[in-house]
Amino acid sequence: MIDLRSDTVTHPTPAMLEAMMQAKVGDDVFGEDPSVNELEQKLADMFGMEAAIFCPSGTMTNQVAIKCHTQPGDEVICEKMSHVYIYEGGGIAFNSGAQVKTLEGNYGRITAGQVESAINADDVHKARTRLVTLENTSNRGGGSCYSFTDFEAIKEVCLQNNLKLHLDGARIFNAIIANQEQPQVYGKIFDSISVCLSKGLGTPAGSVLIGGKDFIKQARRIRKVFGGGMRQAGYLAAAGIFALDNNIDRLAVDHMHAKKLAEVLSEKDFVKAIFPVVTNIVIFEVGGRYSSKQLAEKLKELGVLAIAISPLHVRFVTHLDINLAMINEVSAIIEAL
Ligand SMILES: *Cc1c(COP(=O)(O)O)cnc(C)c1O
Repeated sequence: MIDLRSDTVTHPTPAMLEAMMQAKVGDDVFGEDPSVNELEQKLADMFGMEAAIFCPSGTMTNQVAIKCHTQPGDEVICEKMSHVYIYEGGGIAFNSGAQVKTLEGNYGRITAGQVESAINADDVHKARTRLVTLENTSNRGGGSCYSFTDFEAIKEVCLQNNLKLHLDGARIFNAIIANQEQPQVYGKIFDSISVCLSKGLGTPAGSVLIGGKDFIKQARRIRKVFGGGMRQAGYLAAAGIFALDNNIDRLAVDHMHAKKLAEVLSEKDFVKAIFPVVTNIVIFEVGGRYSSKQLAEKLKELGVLAIAISPLHVRFVTHLDINLAMINEVSAIIEAL
């Protein structure tokens, strides 16, 4: 099976496993795991921020951040298809007792103007608008990226209105590679950044939340309450350090593979539209001969796994375990459909 369902399906390489085997570990709840401490410091430095905290998942880093930034009854502004809203089990309500105001974005991206008009007036009838969360790259936007001008404009609105700004950067390195950005620039814009190690970077598990010193201190308390304090987590952190050293630049290969799949798809009569492909996600609309579910089933019969993310849309995600030979094989299968 060629698995293009998600970039979370990767298996650690022998070299990554070796790095994990060699990890120096301690009890991270006591703050004594040298590998976890190294990973946290490495990412904080990379993004030009003060501190960071390792968590089991990207859902947890996002939810810890939202909990730290809000009080019950506050309002969080995000795009209507954002992960924090549609894929985290109602966590904003469950964990933070906050409510959400969703905006309709352009391939997952919202604008400063939209944010500004979504802020509630200082009025007892209204929830207090407290936090804006953005997603880069945007998963349901087909791996789309914000431009820094957009980030700066949104940041300005947040500063003027006393709002915190969080980035769900599950695939931030895909954006950084696609747009040749410097990670430190993100640290200047956002109050907190969540980074996944288990997506394109290919580790078995783990995400890191990055922010200021006081914020991360509070995040440590919340992580413990959420049950995310791990003990010898250094084995996983070592995979993260290995991934940061070895697997960032190669994301360009995944992006090339995604573009190749989009080219092949664009020739097919049952493909009605393809979201612009700029990173490792290809979302396309089907019609005529196939529904999205029928196409995913047909591909599965032929040895290719994809996800029908809506009745009309199918998603392919390229990743570390997909090589050019596999892309060529999938291309041939699509061409023959
Ligand atoms: C995968 C993902 C996450 C985190 O998911 P986990 O499975 O909890 O690690 C967060 N945000 C986005 C946009 C994602 O794609």
